[in-house]
Amino acid sequence: MRIDILTLFPEMCYAYLSESIIGRAREAGKVKIECTDIREYTEDKHRRVDDTPYGGGMGMIMQAQPVFDCFKALCEKLGKTPHLIYMTPQGKTLTQERVKELSRLDNIALLCGHYEGIDERVIEELKPEEISVGDYVLTGGELPALILADAVSRLLPGVLSDDECFEEESHFSSLLEYPQYTRPYEWHEKIVPEILISGHHENIKKWRRRQSLERTAKRRPDMLEKAELDKADYEFLKQLK
Ligand code: SAM
Repeated sequence: MRIDILTLFPEMCYAYLSESIIGRAREAGKVKIECTDIREYTEDKHRRVDDTPYGGGMGMIMQAQPVFDCFKALCEKLGKTPHLIYMTPQGKTLTQERVKELSRLDNIALLCGHYEGIDERVIEELKPEEISVGDYVLTGGELPALILADAVSRLLPGVLSDDECFEEESHFSSLLEYPQYTRPYEWHEKIVPEILISGHHENIKKWRRRQSLERTAKRRPDMLEKAELDKADYEFLKQLK
């Protein structure tokens, strides 16, 4: 899969994309993530990409032309039109379900706004999917684009190592993950639950499932509606009430 990030701040994105799991996955060719500097496409002789808003008001607005030309150049380079997503607080909130669907695509392009946003006309023309990372406003679309790229990449084959399984993680099956522990066995007079050192895999699995159900029921009961539950799960949940 290839993810392209269209941004005024490619270096900001590469700083994150070159480290840790995503950095290694990119190096190993498990995912291709490239950033394109929108400023390279401005026709302004002073390399400006923004201007003041019509009608007055605070801040600057990214102009339509550099954004449009940047995306068109990307399409030409790829020889196809990637699924374009505009990161915006006005979009639909990103979910693990949408992340899963996006991870099945071959190409996505993430458009990052900055300042007060982007001239509406280029949004109307390119008709991107609009995705938000939450009901708050950031200074730019770079962090949201990195969040999406990270969430999608870790679902791709070979990005996580075999012992880093995402299928039991929070939200994957509409449940929160069970609590996790590591060495030392005792810390601040708290010990690790005995079951986890029993070596009995079946019982550990059952304990974790129940912890997961209990956490979800307590913290995010809304999620349980979408979770795949069996008879034993329902019985366990019933006796929690
Ligand atoms: N004036 C815009 C509004 O009120 O909708 C907000 C602009 S924001 C300061 C600048 C850019 O940051 C946006 O164009 C968008 O790309 C990005 N951004 C900010 N918050 C975001 C969020 N919650 N999710 C996704 N992108 C966000």
